[in-house]
Amino acid sequence: MTASGSDREDFLEAELTVLLGKHECPVCILANETEQAVLSWLATTNIREETTITKLVKARGLCRRHWGEVLRRRGGDLGASGSRVVSRIAEAAAADLGAGDVTRHSECPVCASIARREGSVLEMLFAALNEPHKLAAYRSSSGLCRPHLALAVELAPEARSRQILIETQRRAFLALAKRLDGRATDAHNRPLAIRRAIALLVGGRCEEESTPNDHRSPTARRRA
Ligand SMILES: [Zn+2]
Ligand SMILES: [Zn+2]
Repeated sequence: MTASGSDREDFLEAELTVLLGKHECPVCILANETEQAVLSWLATTNIREETTITKLVKARGLCRRHWGEVLRRRGGDLGASGSRVVSRIAEAAAADLGAGDVTRHSECPVCASIARREGSVLEMLFAALNEPHKLAAYRSSSGLCRPHLALAVELAPEARSRQILIETQRRAFLALAKRLDGRATDAHNRPLAIRRAIALLVGGRCEEESTPNDHRSPTARRRA
């Protein structure tokens, strides 16, 4: 897949270039955007709708963290219709056991959406590394967070991309280390610099108001 083509892809590609100037992992920014959008939808949608119910039952519901988020956004109560959905998930779980399946693999639909977005952002990034001006923009950016770097290196289509990713990150981390060591960052700018550095080291957004991303690595979450 190349990142050129549809208008949507062109838009995302332009967005990626802008995101690279933000000193945050662009995959974390867009994955968080997807996560918030899906959670908002789940928190406001009518869960009497059969397509939604079927999807939730088939996945045996959400992961613990995302159920927690939906519950929080719904004021701690899913209501009568939500209660029926959880009842149907429990029935399906009982049927799994009836069929002797105690370790059924199911993927939380919110986590699945995040993983798809991560994959599509990385595809765009790999394509961008083949274009000289975008490559230059990437090289002078803060690169990716460590978990998304690991995922990117795993998925990179060729040795050249892997080398660019690793080398850019090595330089970005060295620059971070220098900036945070000693007097290079004044007291006023220090809190943001520290948040940005921590976000790049462990993944997630550095903005205070955003929901932290899953602390597990993207690869682990994909496989969970
Ligand atoms: Zn990231
Ligand atoms: Zn989840």
